[in-house]
Amino acid sequence: MSVQVVAAKMAEVELKDVPTGKDLPADSPLTPTSEGKNIARNDPHEAGSSAAASPTAESSAKAGEGSLGLLNPNPAKMPQASAMKRSDPQQNGGEAFVNRDGTVAEAPRMKKIQFADQKQEFNKRPSKIGRRSLSRSISQSSTDSYSSAASYTDSSDDETSPRDKQQKNSKGNGDFCIKNIKQADFGRREIEIAEQEMPALMALRKRAQGEKPLAGAKVVGCTHITAQTAVLMETLSALGAQCRWAACNIYSTQNEVAAALAEGGFSVFAWKGESEDDFWWCIDRCVNVEGWQPNMILDDGGDLTHWIYKKYPNMFKKIKGIVEESVTGVHRLYQLSKAGKLCVPAMNVNDSVTKQKFDNLYCCRESILDGLKRTTDVMFGGKQVVVCGYGEVGKGCCAALKAMGSIVYVTEIDPICALQACMDGFRLVKLNEVIRQVDIVITCTGNKNVVVRENLDRMKNGCIVCNMGHSNTEIDVASLRTPELTWERVRSQVDHVIWPDGKRIVLLAEGRLLNLSCSTVPTFVLSITATTQALALIELYNAPEGRYKQDVYLLPKKMDEYVASLHLPTFDAHLTELSDEQAKYLGLNKNGPFKPNYYRY
Ligand code: NAD
Repeated sequence: MSVQVVAAKMAEVELKDVPTGKDLPADSPLTPTSEGKNIARNDPHEAGSSAAASPTAESSAKAGEGSLGLLNPNPAKMPQASAMKRSDPQQNGGEAFVNRDGTVAEAPRMKKIQFADQKQEFNKRPSKIGRRSLSRSISQSSTDSYSSAASYTDSSDDETSPRDKQQKNSKGNGDFCIKNIKQADFGRREIEIAEQEMPALMALRKRAQGEKPLAGAKVVGCTHITAQTAVLMETLSALGAQCRWAACNIYSTQNEVAAALAEGGFSVFAWKGESEDDFWWCIDRCVNVEGWQPNMILDDGGDLTHWIYKKYPNMFKKIKGIVEESVTGVHRLYQLSKAGKLCVPAMNVNDSVTKQKFDNLYCCRESILDGLKRTTDVMFGGKQVVVCGYGEVGKGCCAALKAMGSIVYVTEIDPICALQACMDGFRLVKLNEVIRQVDIVITCTGNKNVVVRENLDRMKNGCIVCNMGHSNTEIDVASLRTPELTWERVRSQVDHVIWPDGKRIVLLAEGRLLNLSCSTVPTFVLSITATTQALALIELYNAPEGRYKQDVYLLPKKMDEYVASLHLPTFDAHLTELSDEQAKYLGLNKNGPFKPNYYRY
């Protein structure tokens, strides 16, 4: 949808279009009290969810009647932390490879880091600022989580570290550390563009004109600092919160956006290309400040939470909750919880339906084409494509390519997903059956070694090979780094790997996630996640004593539904309301939740 159309739609979104508080839990701060009372706590679905209300079976028993039907996020049943890893666009393998002339070249060495709990390695660019000691290894998530946005204003020749600059905004406030405050106007335009595709947050702001559910909240955040995050921060501020923010990724900060935020009075400590020492310094500047102590944490990757645990454990006396977005961060929270060390309630936003379903399916449906097109200019019509894995990501990729006229084959190991692929009209094959004829190979399995050297050897000349799934393990790229093969970097993120007979395959992003390395992620998808984060903060901040224990929770389903409903006006969508009779027949409350927690969507 064009920006203009969205803008026109946004203009139409009046407060009346925004779902009312009756859609929310009765005691949600966004729920008008007169309407909130009609939640049927004893309806079968509600009861079903209440049964699993608290984080563990044991604490479920203790949670009591007041619980709002939270899922039982049994860590053992949660997705593997590694299963949704985001890779960083600028990671570089740092491995040796063979040039066309046969000489062995070594890519810039990257520092490898490893976490005890995950035996995966991630790479990091070496520190630019040699004089600063690297006191500890940088967080995995600081390089590994994703961002949809690259900074457009990175051409600045100014090599001075922002830490060595004294900058003030136009009001004389200097409580921030960013690349260049002069970029604020440009950053403001970026934020305004993002606002067009973030209708739910804008709607929340409108609602907040009368009520301030985050009044008194002091939110310390550590996320990607992009235009979309800026929209979230400004929304939190409109809802009454004070915010201090650092970046969760050393590469992903949009400098101009950070400048716009600083100009707007936010205490932001982030710039693109931080060293690892800078990274922790920025986080520390957010929390270690005289006269200000956070009472809420919004984290993406768990580094901020980790830092506070390590350096300022006493802060947790005042902290009411943690909202965590990433797989890695959620995994760390479950570990803390398991060890009995989690001392405040935490919301696992990553596993909200509104995040997972939309992020995996719709985001990939859009970005697969973008990533392929930007890197190769390939035409999709009539091309033969094999997609490995028909889960959410695979379904998105297949749908997009089919719509473009590609002939799509699917490989699967799971008969259910395989049958889905068949019913959706795709030919289910073994990779070997089609490997010689396909033009494009896409992996989306979350598995390892799905495409191995044997497959690569058999591909036809010009075959494009890329990964939309897990990290860089799905394609055995290491097997291509052998003396008889020549690597030619033809574009950023595009390598031709050339066989002795002249055959070449086109390898994208060295097997890392194509869309995160080579395309953007739709703002609308980020809007859904950001809204979930905002509601999770509101819920935790306002929850009555005892509703949440020191454990990890999923957002109540009613709130997930609310996040979705806040996005519907963008499409001028008209939701059907249950009649009393129908509600009774289905055993549902008219205002939701409409599905039991086990519903798969
Ligand atoms: P999923 O579990 O729904 O789907 C993966 C599918 O792959 C499953 O159906 C599984 O049976 C199948 N599979 C496993 N091994 C296979 C093999 N050897 N050959 C063929 N099929 C195989 O997971 P999902 O939500 O589709 O996510 C897939 C991967 O994509 C995950 O690693 C996830 O972290 C990642 N992901 C990427 C993005 C992105 O933006 N690129 C977004 C979300 C998730």
